[in-house]
Amino acid sequence: GDIADSVTRSVESLGASVSEAFFEPVIRLGVTGLSRAGKTVFITSLVANLLDRGRMPQLKAVADGTIRSVFLQPQPDVTVPRFEYEAHLAAMTGPDPHWPDSTRAVSELRLSFRVQPQGMLGGLRGLRTVHLDIVDYPGEWLLDLGLLDRTYADWAAETLARIADRPEAAGFLALAGATDGAARLDEADARALADSFAGYLIRARAAGWSDCTPGRFLLPGEMAGSPALTFAPIAQPADAGRSSLWREMDRRFEAYKARIVKPFFREHFARIERQVVLVDALGAIHAGPRAVEDMRRAMAEILAAFRPGRNGWLTGLVGGRRVERILFAATKADHLHHSQHPRLTAIMEALLREARDRADFAGAKTAAMSIAALRATVEETISHEGGPLDAVRGRLEGGRQAAFWAGELPGDPAQLLVPARQGAERWLDADFGAMAFLPAAAALRPGEGPPHIRLDRAVEFLIGDRLR
Ligand code: GDP
Repeated sequence: GDIADSVTRSVESLGASVSEAFFEPVIRLGVTGLSRAGKTVFITSLVANLLDRGRMPQLKAVADGTIRSVFLQPQPDVTVPRFEYEAHLAAMTGPDPHWPDSTRAVSELRLSFRVQPQGMLGGLRGLRTVHLDIVDYPGEWLLDLGLLDRTYADWAAETLARIADRPEAAGFLALAGATDGAARLDEADARALADSFAGYLIRARAAGWSDCTPGRFLLPGEMAGSPALTFAPIAQPADAGRSSLWREMDRRFEAYKARIVKPFFREHFARIERQVVLVDALGAIHAGPRAVEDMRRAMAEILAAFRPGRNGWLTGLVGGRRVERILFAATKADHLHHSQHPRLTAIMEALLREARDRADFAGAKTAAMSIAALRATVEETISHEGGPLDAVRGRLEGGRQAAFWAGELPGDPAQLLVPARQGAERWLDADFGAMAFLPAAAALRPGEGPPHIRLDRAVEFLIGDRLR
């Protein structure tokens, strides 16, 4: 009778909402890269172009009409900061266009697609919803995964050896050299060493070096000043007693791994299925062969972080799920005339091949591209000393327009690693350093996303298969 009917009714309505939730797949896309690589600009332009679908011809689901509508939704992770899309877009495309504030910590945004699958079966299935959860996080934090396999003694020795002749490290090395690790811990000494090491890391990043662990020294967030961030690499003394500086540094290094690195991976990283790694390859090439070498090592370390089964505890947490596609994208390609883009892409491909070999990486599908998430230039051929040069023109601080030629890229990527002292050529050493372009002041028509280079191809590789 009545009871049976109402039970049936409520089971039916429950069934409807459960099935709706079950058949709305979620794609979790990680966006990372070292600071200034272009994460914020990438996500903002990506979302704007997807919402408007104005400039995405290479995304098949746009070209064939599969995507019917796209909208922003509240994200499911209620304790993670939301990516400030609206503020960033207003900065880039408002009346006085400028670059947005960069990524400082992890943030998220959910974009939802209403798709009508194509073909006969697709037509029968009707409209469905696919969610894209975009997770923005600093690449510095990703490189920290490499610390999990190392003891403090290993890390300190490796780091001191690697930075021994870097000018940016001179001050820190003098301080560390004058420090006796066997001496009793003095909190002021520990603080001074940590501050000095953090200062080195900041200068090293600015000079183009990519190895910058511990990542929280650069972007500490709410951890600034805590003991887990108050350590630095020092030489191992012959005999370090229980309350010595060395032993305390060791304890703090372990605390950093256990309390900062692991929780980050557990909470944010473990569930990522698709990943884009943005690389400021042009900046490293301009900085010279050692910065390129360093970028190459960082790419291998990043791939190692995604290697299936690398960390027992991490694999256990994700229940066998792993990253399926990883894209390495050289950003800011709008600094170069398109005639140079194939070379930039070839360089990224060579670096990726090497990184895969070094990291002994197999499993996920990988690709390399060169892109500009927000194209700030137009191409122009200028004449220089009687010959034509393929230049780009853009807007500088103060509104002045100027055309520049960045310089050449080598046809053979290996030439990037030839040390300058062997009389090698310098790459991107023409006007590259002066190319501080602002976003172009272009009024976007309704339905038109911000201008970009190959952003649609990047998206097709990353998630195109999930939108069919
Ligand atoms: P993040 O630290 O990885 O979030 O980097 P941002 O997205 O804030 O980008 C850092 C800076 O790189 C920006 O302020 C711009 O100066 C520059 N940039 C990023 N993307 C582009 C691009 O597509 N074209 C050009 N010309 N510059 C870019």
